[in-house]
Amino acid sequence: MYYQSTRRPDLRFSPSEAILQGLAPDGGLFIFDHLPELDVSEVLSLSPMEQSARILEAFFPDLTGIPALVREAYEGKFDTPDLVPTVEAGPYHFLELFHGPTCAFKDIALCLLPHLMRAASVNREDAPTLHILTATSGDTGKAALSGFADVPGTKITVFYPDGGVSALQRLQMVTQQGNNVSVYGIRGNFDDAQTGVKALFTDKELEDELAAKHIRLSSANSINIGRLIPQVMYYFKAYSDLLRAGTVRMGDKIDFSVPTGNFGDILAGYLAAALGLPVGKLLIAANINHVLTDFVETGVYDRRRELYLTVAPSMDILVSSNLERLLYLLSGAETSPKAAAAATAGYMRDLKETGRYEIPEDVHSKLTRYFWSTYADDFDAKETIRSYYQQYGYLMDPHTAIGCYTAEKYRQTCPEDDLPIVILSTASCYKFPATVLEALGNTVPEDPFEQLSLLQTITNISVPAPILALQDLPERHTGVISREEMKSVIQKEGEM
Ligand SMILES: *Cc1c(COP(=O)(O)O)cnc(C)c1O
Repeated sequence: MYYQSTRRPDLRFSPSEAILQGLAPDGGLFIFDHLPELDVSEVLSLSPMEQSARILEAFFPDLTGIPALVREAYEGKFDTPDLVPTVEAGPYHFLELFHGPTCAFKDIALCLLPHLMRAASVNREDAPTLHILTATSGDTGKAALSGFADVPGTKITVFYPDGGVSALQRLQMVTQQGNNVSVYGIRGNFDDAQTGVKALFTDKELEDELAAKHIRLSSANSINIGRLIPQVMYYFKAYSDLLRAGTVRMGDKIDFSVPTGNFGDILAGYLAAALGLPVGKLLIAANINHVLTDFVETGVYDRRRELYLTVAPSMDILVSSNLERLLYLLSGAETSPKAAAAATAGYMRDLKETGRYEIPEDVHSKLTRYFWSTYADDFDAKETIRSYYQQYGYLMDPHTAIGCYTAEKYRQTCPEDDLPIVILSTASCYKFPATVLEALGNTVPEDPFEQLSLLQTITNISVPAPILALQDLPERHTGVISREEMKSVIQKEGEM
């Protein structure tokens, strides 16, 4: 098995090389040349860590010692040995992905990525220092910092949109400990930060300059294939839970509703389905930045619109990077990788030059066979939080609430599909206490820590320990820079 660019099948690399490089040299994303075989019913009988290991071994056959590496990544870092529990509340099942060290679903991949990278570079003599660059709309940044902090042979720099993340998300990042970490606010939005990071990865001059210092840039964003594949596990885990509960019998399909931003989480669901997991529909839950909802409806991807900041900041995105992988896979990659890559390269060129692209009817009909989408505004999200808490005593964060809203809309719109729906619960409600308090009808105190304790008093659900601890940590990374300064910051870090 090898990995190639979504835009050029002749740019081929081993799995470990793809993990280390992050982004393909032509700016495309790495994708496998064929889907590995997996014994689905066997995987469903395993524990979550074993499921993770089995899936990683299938996708990254040149890495050794994967079971041990998975244990090292997860053991003792989650507040439950089950890692990702499924909770039934009202008519839906919530797959809680927030029990890790930073209380967001990105922990599942980002606890593992440094270990995958270490295993990937193990056979190289004189391996260079990996400098991880990450643009974040909130949760990735902290999860990446926490995953890479003090991992030998690595450095990490995180860029977040100044004013575009919640007070607690910012605090989680700027208080990060570790000798190899740095964090900067960018004057701009998430797309500015992400475009800036992408530009650094394709900057030949910077690459040469860093190579002379024995440093290599890499990515912890979900464009890295080593971020994407670890997320496949929890779709299997959810199915195992529903089997065990007797909600489904082996082979019955289930739907998933996924709060979506950069399209990494939901693409992992698509891969799970492609591997043979019985999946009905994948519901793309969007907020008012609903480029993806429009895309599913019309086949036209059009980013030419204003970006709105919403109560679900991790979904405030106009360019969903991972969609490129889906386009490639839906464009006939299995039979004609060359044509699929040419088509994908064309879409990405159109997107860059004109801000939009359109997919042909046959690709669009494949898209709608697997995916359905709607969007919720801030009012809908808060109303969902309130009504679920009142009716079922289940408290959601705003992202999860949009997933729940989407599931309800889907049930109303397509009543003929009555499969069980699993909603991916992507963050702890304590990462967004102000919105949650407001949704529950409370006056919101100014201070984020007062918000936490008020929410705890009202709901009797305890504040997760890693969030509580923020109160006592000093702010170590207070720099805010312009997009133009990103390069010089990386050059300077290279001197340290
Ligand atoms: C990152 C994130 C999302 C979006 O996931 P993508 O993989 O970017 O689509 C949704 N909710 C939360 C809380 C997140 O942190």
